[in-house]
Amino acid sequence: MTTLEVRDLVKDFSVRSGFRHSRLRAVDHVSFTLAPGRTVALVGESGSGKSTVARMIARLEKPTAGTIEAEGPDGRRVDDRSYRHHVQMVFQDPFASLNPFHTIEHHLVRPLKLHGRAKGKDELRQQVEQLLERVNLTPGASVAQRRPHELSGGQRQRVAIARALAPGAQVVIADEPVSMLDVSIRLGVLNLLARLQREDRLAVLYITHDLATARHFSDEILVMYRGRVVERGAADDVILRSRHPYTRLLASAAPDPESGRGRAELLAGTGAEPAGAGSPPTTDSGCTFRDRCPRAMDICSRPVPDHTAGDGHTAKCWLYADEAKDACPAGPAAR
Ligand code: SF4
Ligand code: MG
Repeated sequence: MTTLEVRDLVKDFSVRSGFRHSRLRAVDHVSFTLAPGRTVALVGESGSGKSTVARMIARLEKPTAGTIEAEGPDGRRVDDRSYRHHVQMVFQDPFASLNPFHTIEHHLVRPLKLHGRAKGKDELRQQVEQLLERVNLTPGASVAQRRPHELSGGQRQRVAIARALAPGAQVVIADEPVSMLDVSIRLGVLNLLARLQREDRLAVLYITHDLATARHFSDEILVMYRGRVVERGAADDVILRSRHPYTRLLASAAPDPESGRGRAELLAGTGAEPAGAGSPPTTDSGCTFRDRCPRAMDICSRPVPDHTAGDGHTAKCWLYADEAKDACPAGPAAR
């Protein structure tokens, strides 16, 4: 059973420079499915389009083309009204996502009420406490009466996770859920998310720039570069047996968790810019990575086919297409 199916998702933005308008394709035909109890990681630098994918799934942004369909536990398509409970988002910034004037209880009562999960004051209070205790905020009764500024960043993100669970979500979109938290508490929050996922058989889309946690917490990884999925497959295959030159670059530039150095910094050190830098080709159908790719060939300016090895491990790269042999004498054999 699929819980969420994303098919051929496209998002164009129009950008103005001086008097000229041009089209920027932020998301270019992205497809994947989320199944109960499984995590898919969408990995890429800022500007790769991964957050735009999240925003379209959360219905904060309208797709230019493509479809997003959710299926309920009964196997039926989830209608527009129920979609809001079915799919919930945990945002990057736990400081911005909670209202400073309201108690934690207020934040949780609203989705519980709105989605008809509990009725009556006592039942609501009980459910709020249970939700808080599920995310390890104990005792629930006392945390419920606090306001966001009385909690740490990690505690606030736990509240945000509890709020996502409140309406009985089946799909959780977590967009860089720990990147703004202190390094020392990141794993705790990710482990919590993983536990809740197991308990509720949630389908999770984990959006991150961090390959190490993507590998640890996901079943499948999709690597995005300038709007396109350039590599996808089982988490271990993508990280340990990377095929696409961009994934290899990311994997080799993995930041040192001790020093906390950002990847952008490290990529700068390798001479490759993060994908957000510079403007992507807007009408170009060739490989979007070719201006930086150490393996670029003439054929790379032509539309790039997906090449799938065993187990669905796919790379969008001419190095893996048989046709590349003729165009490049060194060819795939030279890898
Ligand atoms: Fe490099 Fe060509 Fe592959 Fe693009 S298609 S990643 S330029 S080898
Ligand atoms: Mg983002």
